[in-house]
Amino acid sequence: MLYKEPAPIKDRENPFESMMSRFNIAAEVLGLDEETYNVLKSPARQVIVNVPVTMDDGKVRVFEGYRVVHSTILGPSKGGIRYAPDVFLDEVKALAAWMTWKCAVVDIPYGGAKGGIICDPYSMSAGEIERLTRAYTSSLVDIFGPDRDIPAPDMGTGPREMAWLMDEYSKTKGSTEHGVVTGKPLVLGGSLGRVEATGRGVMVSAMAAMDKLGMDPTKSTAAVQGFGNVGSWAAKLMAERGVKILGVSDVSGAYWNDNGIDIEEAIEYKNNNNGRLEGYKGAEQIDPDDLLTSKVDVLVPAAVEDVITIHNVEKIQARLIVEGANGPTSYKADKIINEKGIMVVPDILANSGGVTVSYFEWVQNRMGFKWTLDRVNERAERIMNESFERVYAASQKYNVPMRIAAYIVAIDKVAMTYKYRGGF
Ligand code: NAD
Repeated sequence: MLYKEPAPIKDRENPFESMMSRFNIAAEVLGLDEETYNVLKSPARQVIVNVPVTMDDGKVRVFEGYRVVHSTILGPSKGGIRYAPDVFLDEVKALAAWMTWKCAVVDIPYGGAKGGIICDPYSMSAGEIERLTRAYTSSLVDIFGPDRDIPAPDMGTGPREMAWLMDEYSKTKGSTEHGVVTGKPLVLGGSLGRVEATGRGVMVSAMAAMDKLGMDPTKSTAAVQGFGNVGSWAAKLMAERGVKILGVSDVSGAYWNDNGIDIEEAIEYKNNNNGRLEGYKGAEQIDPDDLLTSKVDVLVPAAVEDVITIHNVEKIQARLIVEGANGPTSYKADKIINEKGIMVVPDILANSGGVTVSYFEWVQNRMGFKWTLDRVNERAERIMNESFERVYAASQKYNVPMRIAAYIVAIDKVAMTYKYRGGF
């Protein structure tokens, strides 16, 4: 059967077009030549697989999965795998391209990729998810590889799935291949500090931006949307730096406390409550739509795409937005954000702490040597701060918002590398 693009979601921007709109602006500011523009605008490879999996009831279900390699100009492609019922090809394409720009912004030798499977991991048993992960890996064994394409976790996946992927790949190759995947469990060659790396990078970016804006973290407030890996760690680490977290939310609802939420307590509650804040008593429940427009200094969207849109952007009160999630701000909302003078630390910079420590994990796997947590954190923090300064300097030089500046830094690096490597 021929693959058919799903119908566009009404009122929701196409994520790939949204990414391209920013890419186009940055390319124009940079004066990118047409040849390089054409190379960078389309993914290098898009694979769609249909994998049969035996479910617990004995029936076979066929799952559709994707792997998009956007670019390998800087090195092997790198990018997570998302398990979600509504994942679609254009989303994976956008996420793959963001990985290319993200790796270039933080100056690590990777191209960009992303994968996804249409499934609802929360309604599947561990056995079903394992069989699905192994089947997906097996069907992509010619794409993946420590020197070719290196997956990692994304929404709906974690160390457990990465262990299955690494094991399945290794079985096919007949040798243990730790470096084929990052975000693995520690005992299997995972890196210390990887779990919290994205949230830590969000915190480092937030601190760097607050410094530029003359904001004192200990006198500032924040709201965090999404209380999964990225959101909960960002909230915890920002709270440790003195920021009062007034609101947090997850898929179960939004929670607010004027005196600041006890983040450690909220995390413990969530961990004992099937990963959800539902029923959390340390704060009052508010309308989730109000969280993003609440009166806080810093807003951290760390859940899903397209949550800051033309429908709510006018009402946003924060001075600073630090994008933990990929693509939380729609292209159309950018203009209003800029007019309002809100600083945005864009996703491809703010959440790049994750891929940075993934890169460290891969380096350690290839060296066969483990770094200490201090070494991981110190190096990641240095990279995040240097990257922030690079993007900030570009925003000053070209007189553009931080988002476009990040694209400029990234496209410039990939384009320069392409000039040396060349095409056919
Ligand atoms: P996760 O699955 O651990 O957590 C997602 C959180 O968002 C959960 O708390 C979920 O309940 C919540 N959520 C989902 N829909 C929501 C909604 N409509 N409103 C409010 N909350 C909602 O995922 P994660 O790893 O924390 O990833 C979050 C975002 O960060 C994604 O955009 C992901 O692509 C991005 N990201 C993750 C990493 C990483 O290392 N995990 C790295 C870079 C970027």
